[in-house]
Amino acid sequence: MNIDYFKKTSGYMIDGMWYPRVTSIIQTKSKPALYYFYAKAASYKEAEEKKKKAAAEGTEVHELFEKLVVGKPVKVPPKFIGIKQAFDEFLQQYNFFTKGDWLERRIRHPLHRYAGTFDMLAEINGTLSILDIKTSASVYDDYRLQTAAYVYALNEEPWVLDEKGNKTLLHKDVEKRYILWVNQIRKCQKCTAKLRLRSMGDKAEKGSATCEHKWGNIEAEWELIDFDDPKDKENHIEKDFQGFVHCKGLWEWDNRKILEGIGYL
Ligand SMILES: [Zn+2]
Repeated sequence: MNIDYFKKTSGYMIDGMWYPRVTSIIQTKSKPALYYFYAKAASYKEAEEKKKKAAAEGTEVHELFEKLVVGKPVKVPPKFIGIKQAFDEFLQQYNFFTKGDWLERRIRHPLHRYAGTFDMLAEINGTLSILDIKTSASVYDDYRLQTAAYVYALNEEPWVLDEKGNKTLLHKDVEKRYILWVNQIRKCQKCTAKLRLRSMGDKAEKGSATCEHKWGNIEAEWELIDFDDPKDKENHIEKDFQGFVHCKGLWEWDNRKILEGIGYL
């Protein structure tokens, strides 16, 4: 592979140094759920199309939320009426603050030598936190690795960078990681089935197999998932970060030839 192409697609230049991106590093970890997704699809091409649609939908949902939270005028497309409702309910239930300087910013870890772009920093009920929005069917464990990498970088160097490398200082540590999981559903008026609405194709869940479903209005379905819940004994940010560091080690081995060429190894 071409070195320049690899550098561009897998990393960022910051202060004249090249750093691999967190999302590129994490791709080394195998994702069993993805095999299942491909196996169920009619063809490889169809699966790829679905993935593209889901990614585009995710981007649109992010943009909607980012405008909403910094008070920009928003015209909500009818297809996202349930998503908007989810955001409104979330903002009513939580004390939430963010600003333009905290959206889609870059981070780097100078010692572990990686970089990345997080979705959003926010104060949630007064605690500075990393927040990511997910519209996927489920919230994967892998997000723990990614979010731990961002938090460790921010607490090593307490600033965020824009694309030109300008710094915005943070005045306190990032303490928590959250995923805001948002979905839209329509409930069957005759049985307990739920229709999950998504750009890649709606999906009916549960309910009666013999019912000829009659779908009601679009409703919001959302959950704020706390990755650092003190009651969760199995999980801890230190363990997640260790997982990320090991993943990075494997990624370095996978790419050892090109990384030696770059001078990273
Ligand atoms: Zn039904």
